[in-house]
Amino acid sequence: MHETRREWTISGMDCAGCTQKVTRAVDRIAGVADVRVSLMTQRLSATVTRDAAPRLEEAVRRLGYGIAAHTGMAAQGECGCGHDHDATDAPWYRTGKGRLVLLTGGVLALAWAVRIATTGSLGYAAFVLACLIGVAPVARRAFAALRMGQPFTIEGLMTLAAMGALAIGAAEEAAAVVFLFAVGEVLEGVAAGRARQGIRALADLVPKTAQVEENGTLRTVPAAQVRVGQIVLVRPGDRIPADGTVQDGLGGVDESPVTGESVPRVKGAGDAVHAGSISTDAALRIRVDKEAADTTLARIIRLVEEAQEARAPTERVLDRFSRVYMPGIVGLAALVILIPPLVFGGMWETWIYRGLALLLIGCPCALVISVPAAIASALSAGARRGLLLKGGAVIEAAARTRHVAFDKTGTLTRGTPVVTDLVPTAGVTEAELMSVAAGVEGGSSHPLARAILTRAGGATPAIDARALPGRGAQAQVGGRMAWVTSPAHAAQAGGLSDPAAAARLEAAGKTVVAVFHDRAPLGLIALRDEAREDSAEGIRQLAALGVSATMLTGDNARTAAAIAGPLGLSARAGLLPEDKLTAIRTLSATGPVMMIGDGINDAPALKHASVGVAMGSGTDIALDTADAALLRDRVTDVPALIRLSRAAMGNIRQNITIALGLKAVFLVTSVLGVTGLWIAILADTGATVLVTLNALRLLRMDPTRIR
Ligand code: ADP
Ligand code: MG
Repeated sequence: MHETRREWTISGMDCAGCTQKVTRAVDRIAGVADVRVSLMTQRLSATVTRDAAPRLEEAVRRLGYGIAAHTGMAAQGECGCGHDHDATDAPWYRTGKGRLVLLTGGVLALAWAVRIATTGSLGYAAFVLACLIGVAPVARRAFAALRMGQPFTIEGLMTLAAMGALAIGAAEEAAAVVFLFAVGEVLEGVAAGRARQGIRALADLVPKTAQVEENGTLRTVPAAQVRVGQIVLVRPGDRIPADGTVQDGLGGVDESPVTGESVPRVKGAGDAVHAGSISTDAALRIRVDKEAADTTLARIIRLVEEAQEARAPTERVLDRFSRVYMPGIVGLAALVILIPPLVFGGMWETWIYRGLALLLIGCPCALVISVPAAIASALSAGARRGLLLKGGAVIEAAARTRHVAFDKTGTLTRGTPVVTDLVPTAGVTEAELMSVAAGVEGGSSHPLARAILTRAGGATPAIDARALPGRGAQAQVGGRMAWVTSPAHAAQAGGLSDPAAAARLEAAGKTVVAVFHDRAPLGLIALRDEAREDSAEGIRQLAALGVSATMLTGDNARTAAAIAGPLGLSARAGLLPEDKLTAIRTLSATGPVMMIGDGINDAPALKHASVGVAMGSGTDIALDTADAALLRDRVTDVPALIRLSRAAMGNIRQNITIALGLKAVFLVTSVLGVTGLWIAILADTGATVLVTLNALRLLRMDPTRIR
């Protein structure tokens, strides 16, 4: 059978209970597998066979939600409208739930008017009618879910409580409860919509149109239709519509929308620019390098959206809890209704009423929304500052971090070393030394290789170039084997001729490499890579958070100490890539470890840390590998990441406390008869709104600020 992965946009999902309901209903359909539903992106994705797709759509519609095939962010040519969200974003009074509020509110007001104007049973009948009209659509949804094997839904509890209240003659309250339930649903929808806006704001950073230059004239086209190779013109103050390379013009470009870096960078011919950045003061002609769907910003947005679906462990626990919570409360309500009248001779009416109130307390809405709302807010708050986290599990792990292990080159240091000293062996010229070195390094992408090539003015012809990770590189230069290696691994290449000179340079914080040709030592090259300005500050902030920091490097102990000492962290030197892995394992024994690397050659260590963080100015690799990425090259963003994660987890704890606390209080007051039906429904709605608003506070958080 032909199966494909497909996506839909779902409207009307305001509560995490809804995602469960949809997931379970759709999962049961034959030919549907791997269902993932995200509350925050309103997205459903599943692997489906061709004939299962319509059945899936039908099932979702029967549950009372809207569903439309998802078209993707990059509109495919024919539709340049950009976003697919609009359909689900009608004002509240135009949504189905909004209309239910207006309807139930209207008939309720009418019923009150009837009761005031008339006497006797006419008023009562009006309330019964108001209740029935209001509960009908809810009951229909409950029934649809029931037929799909889900007896315990919020709609089910509501319907049961309203019908029960009618049965014991509390028609006025039943009608009020139905109305309040509808109001609550609308409020939840508004709050969830606000939480979604964080992500949408990112998508809105790309301008909708672009000025494309064609045969000397300008044409305005939808940004999604701009093709690779076309030239776009960006005027001062405009947003750049595509990832590309500057052809003409020189001026500041504000990249804060993409990387969070607030200081504009000067960009001129040959420099790469990102879609979403702003040209601050110059007109730039830009050649488009990437399709709209592949721009860095588009990838960030996708990443943040996918991150919403990667559920946090806490969320899974709560899901499981709510699955037993609802039936548990229904059972309790049954006991409250039956036991006192049967055993203690209580009044049936009193205890039925209290039991019905309990039913309403069984809505787990506030509880289930508490985690995804906080995670969504934290993810978008981070994304706006170039802190990308791939989901709730990463946030939980980052919040628990006890140690941070830093790679040295390119992480604590700038990663752009410069050659400082040349020490040729007696009888060798500097030119010979550099020429052989440039032959070997021509095949390497290591930062040291780039520095040596820059100094030599280009590569020398060589064949069989090979990297020796953590040790050096080798190649055939002029028909004979040549090496550039660290002094520690020089023995296999021929042995150091002047170990004292190497030691002296290393003690000064320089990285030393030895060059060999046909086993003959040609001399030493010393390079220096400055620490980033904010490295010391970053380490200090980590210490203030109670997190220890270690530097892991393949460089030698003397250089490592010279760099790590002033920064105030411990160092482990002379590590081969596999040693870094062992170091991570050892550190992990005493607590969760976060590893920061450049995402290119530290991949194994990044994978093995509790949280692997890639640091690199928006490089593709940094976005793909690792659990998190820091788009600005700032060491202080590491403590910021931990601060954000801790704030998110704190927020989640508050939310769970609010949700469960309110439930506990009203559970007791309902059983004691202190509070009635409509307080019970208000409590659930109120808690949901409260929890969502609390989560929204994270959106405004600036994790880079120290409080
Ligand atoms: P780091 O841990 O600082 O990222 P690496 O593990 O990449 O360093 O490399 C460790 C050491 O191996 C370097 O300090 C250098 O002496 C040597 N080395 C590795 N690759 C090269 C290369 N391409 N050219 C010269 N030396 C290299
Ligand atoms: Mg490295």
